Amino acid sequence: MAEQAGQANPIAQARDAMLDEKYMAIALEEASLAAAEDEVPIGAVVVCDGEVVARAHNRRELDEDPSAHAEFKAMVDASRRLGRWRLTGCTVYVTLEPCLMCAGLMVNARVDRCVYGAPDPKGGALGTLYDVSHDPRLNHEFEVTSGVLQDECAAVLRSFFRAKRAARKRPGAASTSKAER
Ligand SMILES: [Zn+2]
Repeated sequence: MAEQAGQANPIAQARDAMLDEKYMAIALEEASLAAAEDEVPIGAVVVCDGEVVARAHNRRELDEDPSAHAEFKAMVDASRRLGRWRLTGCTVYVTLEPCLMCAGLMVNARVDRCVYGAPDPKGGALGTLYDVSHDPRLNHEFEVTSGVLQDECAAVLRSFFRAKRAARKRPGAASTSKAER
């Protein structure tokens, strides 16, 4: 599942895989924060030189903002923190495969790499429906690693939507969440 170029050393690969899981676990914490706010639970972290420079979760409903996706917010925050629009040297970790908008921001921000957990059959733009990371017509390409903590990332989404459906079926449940896609 994981595809990484230019790293033949198995020890280095194992270390990198452990780091990927460590940062994805932080992205999962962010996803849980989103769920607690009744937002679709997606979380993201931006890491630069081994340091977490930004973390965010989906806030589309609360912010009433169609761009308030976890990884989009994390990248904007990372740029502010670092004082530069170029996120060269940064890796974006996100629990769900980025959409076209967020993958497009990764191109524009010149990120080095994106690591995501679960693929998104309804909108994934880093391999599933499109692959924005390796389109030679665009002016930047970046590395992608998929499937990191995939089961955990998918489970948090599944349980969120299962709870929504259960709440809808309950007699007297008046409100349906705006977070439904
Ligand atoms: Zn997005």
